[in-house]
Amino acid sequence: MTDALPNSPAAQRFPVVIVGAGPAGLTVGNVLRAAGVDCLVLEAETREFIENRPRAGVLEEWAVRGLEARGLARNLLERAELHTACEFRFSGERYRFSYEELTGRRHFVYPQPLVVTDLVREYADVRGGEIRFGVRDVALHGLGTDRPSVSYTCPATGRRQVVACAFVAGCDGARGVARASLPPGRARVARHDYGIGWLALLAQAPPSSDCVLFGCHPRGFAGHMPRSPEVTRYYLQCPPGDDPADWPHERVWAELRQRLGAAGAPPLAEGALIEKRVLDLHDYVVEPMVHGRLLLAGDAAHLVAPIAAKGMNLALHDAFLLGDALVARLTEGDDSGLAGYSEACLRRVWDYQEFSQWLSEVFHGTASGDPFRAGTTVARLRRLFTSPTAAAAFAEQYLGTAVRY
Ligand SMILES: Cc1cc2nc3c(=O)[nH]c(=O)nc-3n(C[C@H](O)[C@H](O)[C@H](O)COP(=O)(O)OP(=O)(O)OC[C@H]3O[C@@H](n4cnc5c(N)ncnc54)[C@H](O)[C@@H]3O)c2cc1C
Repeated sequence: MTDALPNSPAAQRFPVVIVGAGPAGLTVGNVLRAAGVDCLVLEAETREFIENRPRAGVLEEWAVRGLEARGLARNLLERAELHTACEFRFSGERYRFSYEELTGRRHFVYPQPLVVTDLVREYADVRGGEIRFGVRDVALHGLGTDRPSVSYTCPATGRRQVVACAFVAGCDGARGVARASLPPGRARVARHDYGIGWLALLAQAPPSSDCVLFGCHPRGFAGHMPRSPEVTRYYLQCPPGDDPADWPHERVWAELRQRLGAAGAPPLAEGALIEKRVLDLHDYVVEPMVHGRLLLAGDAAHLVAPIAAKGMNLALHDAFLLGDALVARLTEGDDSGLAGYSEACLRRVWDYQEFSQWLSEVFHGTASGDPFRAGTTVARLRRLFTSPTAAAAFAEQYLGTAVRY
């Protein structure tokens, strides 16, 4: 429900404005709507665009259970593929790491476009949440006051609209306006550049294995991530800033065959490359994640390079905590969730960042050109398959199952 602001016939009011309809923003919106709290989601792209944008695909079991507890996992539980192992390939051999045998836990593989499609449908079509697509020039105002507002240009009329609110949830990803609206000097932004590029590929091809493959090869890392029976994601390490046009079909598949090659490995199932872009691997963390009435969540607050497939999981973790904290504040006046929100999120964020750095060395050390790093990398890899303690620690971090963060 909205009402006009005094002296401003064009203005509207919602308790919460959510900027960005990715996994973080849509989950917060769904939690609020389930509790009867009104909110408005503002999204720069069209609904069709966000429902088709390919990105992540691996969900940790705790995240799936979190969605399920909030009534948001029906399709996911019916359709997701369950993964029980991953496979490292190095020194010409295959080493299967069966994490389910060690922990009883699995990964759920469910492409991000399906996660987003389910969340939009539930928010807008089932729970009756308001969402405006294609908005332009979103700007945040009065974040240090208790009367913040958000303005944007309406795509249909070209007019500026103003929405007053009590809280702004900044869920607009790595390139959004929320992080850019932080007053200078108020937040610490810690950044890490790996100095490594990944050619991120989507192939119109069935998976070449029943599990994720990590090729740790002197020519560079190669990854294989099943997404669906028809589509598979691959990664190839490349120099940062490389031009995807320099990676024609033949070169990509020749390189994948070499880097993922190992004794007894079945041939790769080749197919047309339907996405090809270079990611310059980097991480950042904004601390704290709360500034006045602006609450950051997901990639807006922290980016973790896709090395360990953690980004969407962290976005969901933030969204669960933020949604619950806003509900407590707006329905019962309980501020404790909001007060502890940033710290509770950042404990898991830093843990996942550390694991991604550790795994980066495992993936990239053998191709570093430094024989010392190559030697220690192989030692790390061997330890996973010779030491049950090391294996258990890896499984815990890979699956995000630590009892406390
Ligand atoms: C190639 C690749 C592979 C990945 N693989 C994995 C994986 O396997 N597992 C995993 O957990 N994570 C993975 N990730 C990371 C994951 O995709 C992100 O962490 C996740 O999308 C973050 O969700 P979010 O809601 O915070 O942000 P986003 O998904 O980026 O959503 C933000 C939304 O805000 C909108 N927006 C932006 N600016 C504005 C604005 N000014 N006004 C209004 N709206 C705006 C955007 O259009 C977007 O819809 C991968 C990422 C990439 C790039």
